Amino acid sequence: MLKIGLTGGIGSGKSTISEMLSKRGFDIIDADIVAREVLNKYPEIICEIKKNFGETFVDENNKLKRRELGNFIFAVQEKRKKYEEIIMPFIVKDIFYRINQLDEKGKEVCIIDAATLIENNLHKYMDVNILVWVDSLTQFERIKNRDKLPHSEILNRINSQMSLEEKIKFADYTIDNSKSLKDTEEELNITLREIGRNFRGVKCLSNLGTN
Ligand code: ATP
Repeated sequence: MLKIGLTGGIGSGKSTISEMLSKRGFDIIDADIVAREVLNKYPEIICEIKKNFGETFVDENNKLKRRELGNFIFAVQEKRKKYEEIIMPFIVKDIFYRINQLDEKGKEVCIIDAATLIENNLHKYMDVNILVWVDSLTQFERIKNRDKLPHSEILNRINSQMSLEEKIKFADYTIDNSKSLKDTEEELNITLREIGRNFRGVKCLSNLGTN
């Protein structure tokens, strides 16, 4: 099974492209969904969170108050790092579990949509890595329209991540999502065709043709 990593920065358009791929029938492993689901699957995570951040962020049903914890840790880099240290090994384990499940089902391709694919070294396990790129002004505007956050908060979030310019170095393909959705869809088509040419055994991609 061909594993395609799809990554980018906050608001660069990973979900938008994931959605396009999903509509075409590709299986997607969305790291954001995995990050939510591991909380129910591995009770050890809640234990560690209580140990490190106190009981405040866990409700009476032992469920994590994600939003409250998110706001608390986001402001302080050390705390965010600690949270990532706790949860990331479970996310990575679960992503590989899901990859294996799709492989066992005989799928030809799976897409791993993860904002921190590179930061967590997951890109090394992918056969192909695609970076969703957007210029910084467009990125800022799209986050502003989507999340309605104060400007300083948007900049904080962008600056807390590895820059897109840095991420490009690790990518096999870059899709520029700064323009219209139609342009992005066209770039996606070109990228899929190119991958199909490089992995001729993957029928669903090599059947896409040469135009
Ligand atoms: P995050 O990592 O923050 O979840 P993301 O990389 O998944 O973000 P999206 O949610 O796909 O990014 O896109 C960010 C916002 O920009 C969304 O509101 C989306 O609808 C919008 N958007 C994405 N691509 C385009 C485009 N080409 N034209 C116009 N709007 C777009």
